[in-house]
Amino acid sequence: MKIVCIGAGYVGGPTMAMIAYKCPDIQVVVVDINAARIAAWNSDELPIYEPGLDDVVKAARDRNLFFSTDTHKHVAEGDIIFVSVNTPTKTRGVGAGKAADLTYWEGAARMIASVSTSSKIVVEKSTVPVKTAEAIEKVLRRNCADPNVHFEILSNPEFLAEGTAIEDLEKPDRVLIGGKETESGQQAIQVLKSVYEHWIPAERILCANLWSAELSKLTANAMLAQRISSINSISALCEATGADVQQVARCIGTDSRIGPKFLNASVGFGGSCFQKDILNLVYICETVGLKQVAEYWHSVVHINDYQKQRFVERMIEAMFNTISGKKIAVLGFAFKKDTGDTRETPAIDVCKGLMADNARINIYDPKVTEAQIHNDLSLDKFMWDHPSASGTKSPRQNSVTCFKDAYSACQDAHGLCVLTEWDEFKTLDYERIYASMTKPAFVFDGRNILDHTRLRSLGFVVYALGKPLDP
Ligand code: NAD
Repeated sequence: MKIVCIGAGYVGGPTMAMIAYKCPDIQVVVVDINAARIAAWNSDELPIYEPGLDDVVKAARDRNLFFSTDTHKHVAEGDIIFVSVNTPTKTRGVGAGKAADLTYWEGAARMIASVSTSSKIVVEKSTVPVKTAEAIEKVLRRNCADPNVHFEILSNPEFLAEGTAIEDLEKPDRVLIGGKETESGQQAIQVLKSVYEHWIPAERILCANLWSAELSKLTANAMLAQRISSINSISALCEATGADVQQVARCIGTDSRIGPKFLNASVGFGGSCFQKDILNLVYICETVGLKQVAEYWHSVVHINDYQKQRFVERMIEAMFNTISGKKIAVLGFAFKKDTGDTRETPAIDVCKGLMADNARINIYDPKVTEAQIHNDLSLDKFMWDHPSASGTKSPRQNSVTCFKDAYSACQDAHGLCVLTEWDEFKTLDYERIYASMTKPAFVFDGRNILDHTRLRSLGFVVYALGKPLDP
């Protein structure tokens, strides 16, 4: 059997690496139109950071796992074709700002059809709107020259979370396979199931009809994001009333119907999926005339925006209503710990909010590159204080500077804010940091990971989300 995956991104790369690692009898080829990405997958510097990924890739690469730009050849030879291309939010035209842009998906489907001379199972790995399979089937069927070629479409949405992708792929809560209720649909489900059964217990492999599987992925992300927005909305209420959101979370999380996970108040959710998928759900509800349902889910995104804005306003208010010219250290830029991914990270909105009030920002993140920050904050004249490759120091040209460690970022700062829950921020020498900062020195904990009592004892003024304010 030969498995081919179109799209070597955050999902295609790790999922296929895991399949190849666990199924030495199956040849797995990941193809992408982005030659630089493929070159990186074939090098020692993988294109994405994910704990444990290096070991899995290195164990299977060049054994039964291959990365290639030769999409046509491999797709033509494949028995199962996973499609794991990006499905971003549309930026223009009908549905702009909400609907999923399926340009890449349709392009991939047309390519599959045009090169296929044998029947194939085509698997939706990307997150797509419900009923996408119906459209894709038409594209496949009408663009394949050989009428004897049969395409069976399955939905196999990916539930991995960045930062824990390898763990999630090795021991998933469940694998979901959706297919048609026809004989060929059920046969295809069994073929894909047999792949996953190499390492996943059969009872964890759920089968559903196509539309239910497609909708389950959107619903799962919407409900995860809703939980974050729910606790974040309560964090605002805690600050207004003197309650403590961590105590509230602990008190409600022990109720087995609620459960303790995903109840950490934070500066907001980010990542490439939650917002995009909720907006997609909102758009689908609107197009089928469910206005109230659309509004309900839209509020999850509104609360997330509100939380980011509220955090910035709190910072400004705490620093005597003016941050113009003040230095603020930003610890963490990735949307969560253990990833270098900054797509839709709340740090972008927080930094832009601080920049709008003319603050000077010092950023440190252990895995995010200067170039990413440059791009995310649209800094045209971005210059770095630390020595460039040539060894010369660049002059400071604007209000943002990146640093290679937290201590340098905090030097002379009026305040520091934690925007990503990296473990290393918990164990920094805060006595040293306090001594190096301008007084009064403020801490704004956007993830509630620091020891606030200790920080206060060192002299910091502490603002933590959903916590009683310092007198
Ligand atoms: P990504 O942008 O990292 O990767 C997508 C890749 O597809 C890119 O490298 C791009 O060059 C490639 N591509 C696009 N069109 C192509 C074509 N015609 N031929 C070959 N390659 C092509 O995206 P991602 O984060 O891996 O997400 C992929 C899908 O999985 C999305 O639908 C996303 O919603 C979903 N998803 C993402 C996550 C996550 O945590 N990132 C989790 C679950 C599901």
